[in-house]
Amino acid sequence: MAAGSAIQIPTRLPLLLTHESVLLPGSTMRTSVDSPRNMQLVRSRLLKGTSLRSTIIGVIPNTSDPTSDCDDLPNLHRIGTAALAVQVVGSNWPKPHYTLLVTGLCRFQILQLLKEKPYPVAEVQQLDRLEQFTNDHKSEEELGELSEQFYKYAVQLVEMLDLSVPAVAKLRRLLDNLPREALPDILTSIIRTTNQEKLQILDAVRLEERFKMTIPLLVRQIEGLKLLQKTRKPKQDDDKRVVAIRPNRRISHGSIMEDEEEEEDHDDVVMLEKKIRTSSMSEQALKVCLKEIKRLKKMPQSMPEYALTRNYLELMVELPWNKSTKDRLEIRAARIVLDNDHYAMEKLKKRVLEYLAVRQLKNNLKGPILCFVGPPGVGKTSVGRSIAKTLGREFHRIALGGVCDQSDIRGHRRTYVGSMPGRIINGLKTVGVNNPVFLLDEVDKLAKSLQGDPAAALLEVLDPEQNHSFTDHYLNVAFDLSQVLFIATANTTATIPPALLDRMEVIQVPGYTQEEKIEIAHRHLIPKQLEQHGLTPQQIQIPQVTTLGIITRYTREAGVRALDRKLGAICRAVAVKVAEGQHKEPKPDRAEVGEGEDCKEHITEDAKPESISDTADLALPPEMPILIDFHALKDILGPPMYDMEVSERLNQPGVAIGLAWTPLGGEIMFVEASRMDGEGQLTLTGQLGAVMKESAHLAISWLRSNAKRYQLTNASGSFDLLDNTDIHLHFPAGAVTKDGPSAGVTIVTCLASLFSGRLVCSDVAMTGEITLRGLVLPVGGIKDKVLAAHRAGLKRIIIPQRNEKDLEEIAVHVRQDLTFVLAGCLDEVLNAAFDGGFAVKARVEHLNSKL
Ligand code: ADP
Repeated sequence: MAAGSAIQIPTRLPLLLTHESVLLPGSTMRTSVDSPRNMQLVRSRLLKGTSLRSTIIGVIPNTSDPTSDCDDLPNLHRIGTAALAVQVVGSNWPKPHYTLLVTGLCRFQILQLLKEKPYPVAEVQQLDRLEQFTNDHKSEEELGELSEQFYKYAVQLVEMLDLSVPAVAKLRRLLDNLPREALPDILTSIIRTTNQEKLQILDAVRLEERFKMTIPLLVRQIEGLKLLQKTRKPKQDDDKRVVAIRPNRRISHGSIMEDEEEEEDHDDVVMLEKKIRTSSMSEQALKVCLKEIKRLKKMPQSMPEYALTRNYLELMVELPWNKSTKDRLEIRAARIVLDNDHYAMEKLKKRVLEYLAVRQLKNNLKGPILCFVGPPGVGKTSVGRSIAKTLGREFHRIALGGVCDQSDIRGHRRTYVGSMPGRIINGLKTVGVNNPVFLLDEVDKLAKSLQGDPAAALLEVLDPEQNHSFTDHYLNVAFDLSQVLFIATANTTATIPPALLDRMEVIQVPGYTQEEKIEIAHRHLIPKQLEQHGLTPQQIQIPQVTTLGIITRYTREAGVRALDRKLGAICRAVAVKVAEGQHKEPKPDRAEVGEGEDCKEHITEDAKPESISDTADLALPPEMPILIDFHALKDILGPPMYDMEVSERLNQPGVAIGLAWTPLGGEIMFVEASRMDGEGQLTLTGQLGAVMKESAHLAISWLRSNAKRYQLTNASGSFDLLDNTDIHLHFPAGAVTKDGPSAGVTIVTCLASLFSGRLVCSDVAMTGEITLRGLVLPVGGIKDKVLAAHRAGLKRIIIPQRNEKDLEEIAVHVRQDLTFVLAGCLDEVLNAAFDGGFAVKARVEHLNSKL
């Protein structure tokens, strides 16, 4: 029995009882152990044992370990596999258990159970021994045939798999190298078999029997695979064919397919090389590319780096190293283009023309980068586009809002999986020339993150001293950006990083007045919308009063974007009507409807029956042109979103209207105050910043110190306003954070109204910073604020005296609609804010600003 060369397993083996899986010799299995006896075995034998011998255990299949160690052992399966415990991993979750990794060595048979607790140990007899088979000549012959047959099937099966997978290739080699006797066990554990089948193989102690039992399993697997390949798509069939043919080729040494593939591939690479050589890339880039193509030629195609390198080279070839459009700059033509595309915005157009003129005179201008700053929808992007048009250059917009990774600008290094160039290089690839107009949209919304500061990366792009050798991380060679014309846009300069702001020339683009909006709508937006919706002016008419209605009641914005959207909604609704009644000829007499005043009459008198809102006889097609009146507006856009609520909200003391500036334009802001019995506390609500809170305290202090002068009393008639009184100041729209000093005068007026019991005039809005001495200091954003007040239908605006100069920027017709009160001190503010003035009891000396 004992053979010197054979491995002998111990005759006494601790037994691991498994139920769900069967371990065969030569294979490895991971099993979870959580029953009492098995746990004990792991703890006292595997974890405490020190010799290699102690890691050999007997794995008994098809026998579950009782859940309690008091229970008797069930009948043990007679045959098991001696195994080496290779790894033990313990875990306490969800309950204490071990995971064992065991490798099967050979079969054994239980001769006698020696003990049951704490874990079973048995005297065993080793069954698989090499000597037994080789010594037996008669069986060897028989076995020879069987094993040959088995080997053939095994080879057939393995070659049906994808040999390019390393594990499969290894298996193929194993088939040749392993002793044939080991194959049935190993293959049974690899192919798809049930536990029952595995158990049968384990029980087949005689090798011949084992071969006989395994062959049908192999055949079944081969048939299954064949069927699967037939049902696959043709493309995949081809792949399989390649896989199936390969081994034969290896034998015949004539690899035709491989040659073809390689040749094709080689052709591609040669083409690429040719392209590289003929491209006009810089010398440095050419050097890098040639080096890369040399590497590419040596690389096997299956290598992931092959695709990476190829993509890189293709990009390098595609980049417009030397390709540019010819500038056709003619200032007069530029002026016409700008005027045709955009209504109003004179200041901006003037500055843009100056810029273009200088470019015309001095080629290669290393001038400042223009940055248009203003609320959304005022035409910043659209002016950028017009500039490209006037210059005859390509236009590309790069949205920077929310970009927080510097690789977005500068690209990822090529070592990185999924690396790609940054947006600048990508943009150049898209436009295909090296002198486009790049619009860097929303530079104020760049964010910082752990991945670096994109603003810092932009600095290099925008700096004329540096950008002729901009190095994208992906390209890793310099690209000349000096021909690119950069224009930036932002909503506010406050959040643009200072270093970036320093390189740009800021041009403010304020919001539009109602009149300007009406003009823009009728000259640009409506024709554009009609065209987009396939409508003609003979089919739809939007009178100016309707546009005004949309502007005042359905939008409240500085720009025209929402207005454009609303017009789009109207066109969609009309398109349905037109499509419904397409067979009917338009009536020419309807097209004569005028605009302006005539139109108003028309609407009130007889527009209703023919308007889109008329649903009485839907069956009849509508008459053309469809006139959009207020009824139609209500039908299409729903009830008005903004009412002229101003006067309603000012019908009790303690409310005043302030003017605020936001990145989205100016806004009117209500300030409300109330008082109640208390201990002199001030409560402020409405998401206020520190400066705003200070303004509130300043306002109260000033009013308390001037209470007698103005006859302001608290509820009990005392001049000490906070005596037994709490004050609550609220700035509605609490979801928006508000800060800045310009609400000072509004808070004073609001509190003065509260303590005097008088109403603030309902048509007055105000802005201004205050001091403790009652002076009114100048503030910013006057133009936007005035426009907001005008939009809201207010008539009188109190602004600091020193802001008088800012009024010049405001369009004449807006100024004509409004009365401006220039206030140097709070007395003047209060006098203007209340009907009939705000009387001072004993007029002390007049306080005038000396600033
Ligand atoms: P912004 O970039 O300032 O957010 P856009 O340039 O996208 O705004 O403008 C929004 C829309 O309004 C565009 O369709 C644009 O043509 C139009 N628009 C804005 N201002 C004007 C104007 N002054 N004249 C004509 N169209 C304008």
